[in-house]
Amino acid sequence: MAAYEIIDHEFDVVIVGAGGAGLRATLGMAEQGLNTACITKVFPTRSHTVAAQGGIAASLGNMGPDSWQWHMYDTVKGSDWLGDNDAMEYLAREAPAAIYELEHYGVPFSRTEKGTIYQRPFGGHMTEFGDGPPVQRTCAAADRTGHAILHTLYGQSLRNNAQFFIEYFALDLIMGADGSCQGVMAWKLDDGTLHRFRAKLVVLATGGYGRAYFSATSAHTCTGDGNGMVARAGLPLQDMEFVQFHPTGVYGAGVLITEGARGEGGYLTNSEGERFMERYAPNAKDLASRDVVSRCMTIEIREGRGVGPKKDHIFLHLDHLDPKVLHERLPGITESAKIFAGVDLTREPIPVLPTVHYNMGGIPANYHGEVLNPTEGDPDRVVAGLMAAGEAACASVHGANRLGSNSLTDLVVFGRAAALRAAKVVDKGSMVPAARASEDERILSRFDRLRHANGSSPTAEVRDRMQRIMQEDAAVFRTSESLKSGVERITALYGELSDLKVSDRSMIWNSDLVETLELENLMACAATTVVSAEARHESRGAHAHEDFPNRDDVNWRKHTLSWINDAGKVDLGYRPVHVDPLTPESEGGISLKKIAPKARVY
Ligand SMILES: Cc1cc2nc3c(=O)[nH]c(=O)nc-3n(C[C@H](O)[C@H](O)[C@H](O)COP(=O)(O)OP(=O)(O)OC[C@H]3O[C@@H](n4cnc5c(N)ncnc54)[C@H](O)[C@@H]3O)c2cc1C
Repeated sequence: MAAYEIIDHEFDVVIVGAGGAGLRATLGMAEQGLNTACITKVFPTRSHTVAAQGGIAASLGNMGPDSWQWHMYDTVKGSDWLGDNDAMEYLAREAPAAIYELEHYGVPFSRTEKGTIYQRPFGGHMTEFGDGPPVQRTCAAADRTGHAILHTLYGQSLRNNAQFFIEYFALDLIMGADGSCQGVMAWKLDDGTLHRFRAKLVVLATGGYGRAYFSATSAHTCTGDGNGMVARAGLPLQDMEFVQFHPTGVYGAGVLITEGARGEGGYLTNSEGERFMERYAPNAKDLASRDVVSRCMTIEIREGRGVGPKKDHIFLHLDHLDPKVLHERLPGITESAKIFAGVDLTREPIPVLPTVHYNMGGIPANYHGEVLNPTEGDPDRVVAGLMAAGEAACASVHGANRLGSNSLTDLVVFGRAAALRAAKVVDKGSMVPAARASEDERILSRFDRLRHANGSSPTAEVRDRMQRIMQEDAAVFRTSESLKSGVERITALYGELSDLKVSDRSMIWNSDLVETLELENLMACAATTVVSAEARHESRGAHAHEDFPNRDDVNWRKHTLSWINDAGKVDLGYRPVHVDPLTPESEGGISLKKIAPKARVY
């Protein structure tokens, strides 16, 4: 191994990731006077959160009656009863306070005539515990909500003296002999130096792994790096089989058209010009939840009612809406439709197709953000010194399917929760733990192996094969056959990681090596996804298994845990769902009967 010099840093807290979750955690920690660092591989305001369009859910009730209990109920139902009820209550209950906080930090939300925050309808968000019409719950800054939030949080973090390490690529967690986390090792991309960040607490906020698939709405940087680091530290990932397809990615390009488009009155049609969602979801129609709409679109296409010369996509209509609404509420997607589909959406429909959008699974965490390393006897055992928030984490507030606009809520509510918890568990006066030399060896030998990889498979080729396998074998609909094929093909491909070819050996701006490190992380995500999916013999939320078309609460209302070893072998375990909410009914909480599993219809 080449000799590497390491530069040392000591902090109370190190946050990896500067998306919405990472920045909200960074800001919260810094505000409390903790000595806080935020490491990010891209400039903070280029994190994928910047692309979030439609908005952020909270029961402010600005546009009609709403309550956190309705929001919680919709989230429980949206999760197909796989989410943890304590975490889902926390999300819904804390959301309004988190939004007002964002408003006070300076997020420029769109306004109602009265001057309050504008809210639009979104899929699966309903009134009257799902019995009434859609509710207007999604707070928006036009269709650039993520952009507004990210810029505001970055400014506020700087104001509170958080220290940023920008264009540093986190390689691996530094783990203690007692199983606690003691820091993270990173590679500075512009000068090639290596940095050991020792800390009392590490927060992983590294986002999702949409790029394990061929067609995804997520940025090319969404490569599941935090998940990969956790897996290499011998810790499990949770519920990886649940991958959300968004109904309206632009056909061919994969670029997202926000659900807010349907919230503002847009609708889908098939080749017969039929508004087919009315047939499948008579109440919510085009605003049924995402897994449901994606499946209906796929069925329409399969049954020969797709549009276009190949009958392989669906139309989204906005051409009936007042151009003023489009201009004020949806300026970004007006632009996207023109650039990516060549469509003037005031006159023509947009060609769309279900596209990979969100990972419900990730690093298991409780509602304080603490990472879990469950054992048989203690399914809620906490890993000391390690937290996770945002799309990288599985809290689990989205269960088997996330509701639109609940992710941005998740980022700020749990980024904030992590900071509140840190104030309790991090002792400012204590010493930062020393790191073990054996950890340097483990981390740098992997880095060095990949840097000097001289096999016969270029990274880009292996990545392309991985993406196609995932797209073919673990898509909107799955079968025993497709999942078996997925497991076999991904396992075989895993073997090829030992035969990778990296052409560039330099330490400075080596994008070949960055992509190779990312590929290993993606492969850990892909393998745990297909193996977890193959084992789950039921259909729930985004996991639609055609050989097991029904939900099976008796045997399968449980979280999947997956561990992967260096050879790519995945082991599975399970952990019970948290059924009890935080607030008892007698104190204004939701009744257990209300959130008990039942058929999920919209
Ligand atoms: C196009 C699009 C539109 C969306 N619209 C909405 C919406 O309207 N409402 C909603 O609720 N949700 C929406 N979502 C989902 C939501 O935006 C994401 O789930 C969310 O932004 C993820 O935020 P995050 O903070 O977890 O991670 P990200 O924003 O993805 O940030 C990840 C951070 O981790 C850093 N990082 C990753 N790996 C490393 C590493 N190895 N070393 C150092 N740093 C690293 C990156 O630099 C980055 O700063 C949308 C998603 C997409 C793709």
